[in-house]
Amino acid sequence: MNTHAHYDHFFGNAVFADDGVTEFWAHANCAAAIERDADNQRRFVATNEPEMAAGEGDAVDIVVPNALVHDQPVLVDLGGVTATLFYLGRAHTDGDLLVGTSSTLFVGDLVEQGAHPSFEDSYPEEWADALRHISALRHRYEFLVPGHGKPASDEFVKTMADTMSTAVRQATQSIRDMPSDATKAIPVLPYGPEQSRWFIKRLQETNAQGRTSLATPDFGPEKTGFYPS
Ligand SMILES: [Zn+2]
Repeated sequence: MNTHAHYDHFFGNAVFADDGVTEFWAHANCAAAIERDADNQRRFVATNEPEMAAGEGDAVDIVVPNALVHDQPVLVDLGGVTATLFYLGRAHTDGDLLVGTSSTLFVGDLVEQGAHPSFEDSYPEEWADALRHISALRHRYEFLVPGHGKPASDEFVKTMADTMSTAVRQATQSIRDMPSDATKAIPVLPYGPEQSRWFIKRLQETNAQGRTSLATPDFGPEKTGFYPS
């Protein structure tokens, strides 16, 4: 299952395919992005994985997910463990898929511990909403596993959401005050210079596109017992 279409989260698919895995899950937008853009992302691994970068060697094929999730959650039986794959709307990318088990929520790069969030393909305003949504699910899961770093607390997720909302307000104000040079806001934002630059760029681009309404997953009746209360 691929949480989103960034190379460090799906370049390993070919290894599983070589081992006989045939079912690769992802959100439909993620699969479309992998199909469209994966070869272009090979350059990011030129130093660490030259074979993958060149597309020559073992397990270097791009495997596009073939089992797709859209707005509705999907239950996958892993044999004694049921995983729920679900989408909370656009955030880190337009195709972030989360995985919940009876104990653990895997959130991909919606949450990053130990580094600034990556905004290159993001929808900053909607991302802050998605983080609040994750926090609202805190009683269902004992553990939250981010896309990078150590397991995170609900406090961490809430802080990340608040920081992002504050950054949205600050950057929106700067864009309004200095439309010709919104990059003046970079030193004010709570992220590194590079990520702040992306943050402002994506905020401008996504505001121009307009928002989509956040998908509200239907988890079904509680009595199914998939979640501890
Ligand atoms: Zn990512």
